[in-house]
Amino acid sequence: MTATYDTKLGLYIAGEWLSGDGRDTRDVLNPATGGGQAALPLASAADLDRALEATQRGFVAWRATPPEKRAAILTRTAQLLRERGDNIARIATLEQGKIQAEAKGEVAFAAALLDFHAAEGLRVYGRVLPRPSGTRSLVLHQPVGPVAAFCAWNFPIMNVVRKIAPALAAGCSIIIKPSEETAGSAVEVLKCFQDAGLPGDVAQCVFGVPDMVSRHLLASPITRKLSFTGSVPVGKALMKLAADTMMRTTMELGGHGPVLVFDDCDLDKTLDTLVAHKFRNAGQVCVAPTRFHVQDGIYDRFAAGFAERTRGLKVGDGMDSASQMGPMANARRPDAIAELVGDATSHGAKLLAGGDYGGQGGFFFQPTVLSDVPLSARAMNEEPFGPVALLSRFGSDEDAIAEANRLPFGLAAYCFTENGRRQNLLGDAIEAGMIGINTVRLSYPDSPFGGVKDSGHGSEDGPEGIAAHLVTKAVHIS
Ligand code: NAD
Repeated sequence: MTATYDTKLGLYIAGEWLSGDGRDTRDVLNPATGGGQAALPLASAADLDRALEATQRGFVAWRATPPEKRAAILTRTAQLLRERGDNIARIATLEQGKIQAEAKGEVAFAAALLDFHAAEGLRVYGRVLPRPSGTRSLVLHQPVGPVAAFCAWNFPIMNVVRKIAPALAAGCSIIIKPSEETAGSAVEVLKCFQDAGLPGDVAQCVFGVPDMVSRHLLASPITRKLSFTGSVPVGKALMKLAADTMMRTTMELGGHGPVLVFDDCDLDKTLDTLVAHKFRNAGQVCVAPTRFHVQDGIYDRFAAGFAERTRGLKVGDGMDSASQMGPMANARRPDAIAELVGDATSHGAKLLAGGDYGGQGGFFFQPTVLSDVPLSARAMNEEPFGPVALLSRFGSDEDAIAEANRLPFGLAAYCFTENGRRQNLLGDAIEAGMIGINTVRLSYPDSPFGGVKDSGHGSEDGPEGIAAHLVTKAVHIS
């Protein structure tokens, strides 16, 4: 099967697509083969200065643009994304590896996010406080200013839209640096904004050497907000840079999703749901279910059922409609997973499925299940970000809650139980930004998405995502 990666990569600055002109480049690879398929131009310091100046101009114009007009552009962008969805999904698979069904799902969700933000941007209401006649106190919410956004490669379409849509809905301009590894999807998204009529200076898209780009953009007094999706260590480094100009921050960082499975769950349904979700996007999902704590009474049946379903998964090129899981996104990930699996088995974990690269070339790693994983294993403490399920057992509710809250992460957590009293208790007691009870779906356009503790702060999506791009001002008139 042949599929072409036919997108023209470039930097999008002040409404122009830029490439060549002596800029450094790097290859965008196909994870299914490991081969290069296009050269991506990297921004110079002069490019970034140009992007900053454009974003400043864009902010002045965009904040003065009527909200209805801003909404119409977001809605039109959603339409274009849907119309071009098959092409964009193909590019995403060719550069990120995920199966086509997932890439198409990402397009649909990104379009829904745009529709939500188009509508929600019209509802940025302030307040009028009660005062004596003839006087007024007003509470106004105004756009924070130009945003610098950085996002990861795991959802190459949706992550970009999740950054741009709330910024634009709030009246901010933006410079986004998506992952260089998945540049084509981002370029196609920016083309939708451009063709929907977004004025050139309002959104810039740059690629480069990540550390150089973030230092440059965050040192500028033009940038008033940092929005980052990626790993905890990079997030902490960027927060330190942001502190120098006291800019606002939204940090969507890693997780280590605990899954508490109680004796009273619907076992077959729970297993079907969890196995499908665990290996989605080859496990490279910040809210992935990661460590499965299963109550004693069903532990053995859970482990056997999980392993059997996992062994039945078909792994292959994401462009092949028979594949249920594609390769990992880059060469770093399978090596990292191999190390974590080797470390866990050396600490006594039992390998029930997978455990190896799979011998297909490219960046593949087999869906893997480890049982009886001790807390001393690195994988029980570090985010694996890959197709490995870690199983261990618990006895009481108190033990399960203590284990769920043991790590410094606090992004997603999942519980499976039919007991209503326990559902309420778990929803209160678990330290996480998002909790799924008998469900793995945590992401909806109208619902806040974000973490606590080391997993970050601030929410994306929902009205909270727009609020994160607004400053509050009180005006008292006598
Ligand atoms: P990484 O931390 O090096 O990179 C993650 C993302 O941040 C990439 O897109 C990268 O381009 C960007 N980045 C890296 N350094 C940067 C800098 N100095 N300034 C601005 N952006 C920068 O890790 P990786 O090897 O690409 O991915 C592995 C880890 O990343 C995983 O263990 C996982 O924790 C994390 N991750 C998290 C998410 C998420 O949704 N929270 C997504 C992808 C990766």
